[in-house]
Amino acid sequence: MPQLILHNANIHTLDESRPHATAITIDGDRISAVGDDQIVLEAAPSDATTMDMRGSTIVPGLADAHGHMRNFGMMAEMVNLRHAQSYEEVVELVRERSQATPVGQWIQGRGWNQENWSDKSLPTHDLLSEAVPNHPVWLVRVDAHAGVANANALRISGIPGSTLNPAGGIVGKDKDQPNGLFLDKAMDLVRSHIPDITVEKSKELLLAAQELCLAVGLTQVHDAGIDGTTLQAYRELVAEGSLKIRVYAMLARDYFDQTDVSQIQEGLFSCRSVKIVSDGALGSRGAALLAPYSDAPYESGFMLLSRDDFDATVGRALASGFQVNTHAIGDMANRVSLDVLEAALRKHGVSDHRSRIEHAQHLHMDDIPRFSKLGVIASIQPTHCTSDMFMADSRLGPQRTPGAYPWRKFLDSGARIVSGSDFPVESNNPLWGLYSALTRQNHDGQPSDGWRPEERLTLYEALRSFTRDAAYASFQEHELGSLSLGMLADLTVLDTDIANEPPQALLEAKVMATVVNGEIVYKHNLTPSL
Ligand SMILES: [Zn+2]
Repeated sequence: MPQLILHNANIHTLDESRPHATAITIDGDRISAVGDDQIVLEAAPSDATTMDMRGSTIVPGLADAHGHMRNFGMMAEMVNLRHAQSYEEVVELVRERSQATPVGQWIQGRGWNQENWSDKSLPTHDLLSEAVPNHPVWLVRVDAHAGVANANALRISGIPGSTLNPAGGIVGKDKDQPNGLFLDKAMDLVRSHIPDITVEKSKELLLAAQELCLAVGLTQVHDAGIDGTTLQAYRELVAEGSLKIRVYAMLARDYFDQTDVSQIQEGLFSCRSVKIVSDGALGSRGAALLAPYSDAPYESGFMLLSRDDFDATVGRALASGFQVNTHAIGDMANRVSLDVLEAALRKHGVSDHRSRIEHAQHLHMDDIPRFSKLGVIASIQPTHCTSDMFMADSRLGPQRTPGAYPWRKFLDSGARIVSGSDFPVESNNPLWGLYSALTRQNHDGQPSDGWRPEERLTLYEALRSFTRDAAYASFQEHELGSLSLGMLADLTVLDTDIANEPPQALLEAKVMATVVNGEIVYKHNLTPSL
């Protein structure tokens, strides 16, 4: 393949030795030159293809360090409950879907959020069961840490009133009968009765998600917790040559614990980490806190696994060269996760472990410096902050919010942060993530100064967390993360110079092209002169 030269561009390389350039040469899957137009074009072989980029902006390929590809692909098939303003509206949306669904077939929905309703209590099944009696229904909260089942689904799942709470979960009950609400691990009681997704179907869903990710300029996704079926689906997509986005996968703990694991590197797919979920989320008050919730004085959330199980999985991961990526939202979960890592790292003596805490959302002040001390990476989601900031005020109260989404404190303490979106919980658009990181405001510009604005990131810091540090967090910093000679050619082309426009421009900026491994895998309004 002839070399491809993109010139007359505004290139932010994130390479400190040459932060800015106007031309870049792609030779196969690698970058073979970066510099000024004149020098790069003069050095070009006669058969090179040149593209005049007409001043468009190029940044290193943006990575989402925490997303869920298969779930994202599945969103299109589920009832979208994200915009429902009440439980009545949720029920109506499901009822509409039921009219087009064969009787007896499962109906799944995703995205309800009682925080957006005037009645903010968690939903139960009655209304739903009345409106949709002939289909089993399972509706998952926006954060995936709570679900509500209708009576039909409860019957199929065979959940008697005597059912006890499983470890790490709660079965909602009214008068000793299940009320349809399930939190965290208890969700498996219903979920396990929904027919499994096949490998073939998984491939279809992953490809749908891939398209949606390439279209927003993502060149890589860290898929945060995949099962054996999804792993198989990825490997088949690689073998068939259909995986066009780079994927760094974390194995879900259940699967990791049952399997003989070894590191995988096949085409654009790699896997050498395990995802452990240590607590729930703030929205359903499942995040494990050191002291009770400010808006529910008898609740403190809960851990989703025992200390012994936690120690065992982490020990096995470190011993087998796997990275440990632990979901921790509440200050208690973060503290325990750091304790477990600290003990295991001492025992196994792994130096380059790059353990990550996924979300690292709410920290006790004493624990923030431990990230840097232990070499633990904080894997944050800027949009979680701007979606949940007002809820965090009420859940945590003013004494504790200084430890919520403490990005600046992480950086000041010497810790490394990487950014993602947790899609489909949030939009997968990384430019919206950058906006949240820079402003700590919602899209309406609220609060006017930003929520705890002292924690905002600069554009450079935020971009790093979506590029270079994401590469580091996936052991790929020698090949990815900056536009430098010899690196893999992953880049994102934008119609807006995000470095010289106000943050609001990020909300409107469009992706013109996404290049992965030297191949233009997405383009939009890219009409260069060839
Ligand atoms: Zn997640």
